[in-house]
Amino acid sequence: MKPAPFQWHGPRTVAEAVSLLAEHDGQAKVLAGGQSLVPLLAMRLTQPAHLVDINGVTELDAVRSDAAGVTIAALARHRRVERDENAFRVQPLLRQALAHVAHPTIRNRGTSVGSLAHADPAGELTAVLALCDGTVTARSAAGTRTIAAADFFLGPLTSALAPDELAVSAHFPARPAGSGSAFVEIARRNGDYALCGVAAVAQVDDGKLTGLRCGYLSVADVPLVLDLTRAWQADPQEAAELARRSVDPVTDLHATADYRRHLAAVLTVRAARQAISACPQRSA
Ligand code: FAD
Repeated sequence: MKPAPFQWHGPRTVAEAVSLLAEHDGQAKVLAGGQSLVPLLAMRLTQPAHLVDINGVTELDAVRSDAAGVTIAALARHRRVERDENAFRVQPLLRQALAHVAHPTIRNRGTSVGSLAHADPAGELTAVLALCDGTVTARSAAGTRTIAAADFFLGPLTSALAPDELAVSAHFPARPAGSGSAFVEIARRNGDYALCGVAAVAQVDDGKLTGLRCGYLSVADVPLVLDLTRAWQADPQEAAELARRSVDPVTDLHATADYRRHLAAVLTVRAARQAISACPQRSA
């Protein structure tokens, strides 16, 4: 199929992009990498009258890392973030998760902020942003606001962004000192969306596990975060069981809800063990 007719706009600055979104409020969509939007347009599942293409807004093509975390601007492609050594040092989960996003050709074009704006609960970065307590910064003609991950994802393909808001960047806080992280997932084929995925951050002090949090994708309407510290300290199988009971997956043509629950339990143990192994001080 072909998209319904639309008017294309090519702003060169954030101010121009935001002013176009205000002018066509409710009738315009932002076009970033196009890896999700273009198929939706082609299938006429969305029919915006205006497309605000931000690919010419070069000020948004940036990845900045410092001691506080990694800030990814709206035009940074997945592949650039994945390869960025400073970003990897500050928040390793970015590279660990991005390695599982689609195929390299799609990662060359798709943007990390676009993936968050798309708010697909099967998106790897949604779980990472939620697990890290990250934020998204949005700009509109009315001003700028920063939205916590816990408030950003409202449901499948629904974020807290208003139609006239441009997500200008996402901030992923730095990994806590002394922590280790891991990302594991199961997909039917390499590059497919995950049937279930788990991101884990573990903290070990004096050889003892003092913190374990996991973020889940593809098992609820929005990314789910669990603190599994006490359960794991009691028994890893208790943590697995808690994960199995906490997720709320659906049955679709790829997998049953029961199978996804099973994966959540199994992958919790796998991700946690890898994250603990990655801690500078490992637990026994
Ligand atoms: P676009 O497609 O341009 O936009 C997507 C949506 O977000 C649109 O509604 C758009 O208006 C909105 N949007 C984008 N940027 C902004 C912004 N800055 N401000 C406000 N709204 C914005 N993703 C995964 O996470 N995991 C996968 O395994 C995976 N597999 C894929 C497999 C295939 C075959 C394909 C085609 C895509 C896959 N993707 C996957 C999606 C990919 O990661 C996309 O890059 C991502 O979902 C959207 O990013 P984009 O830059 O292409 O956004």
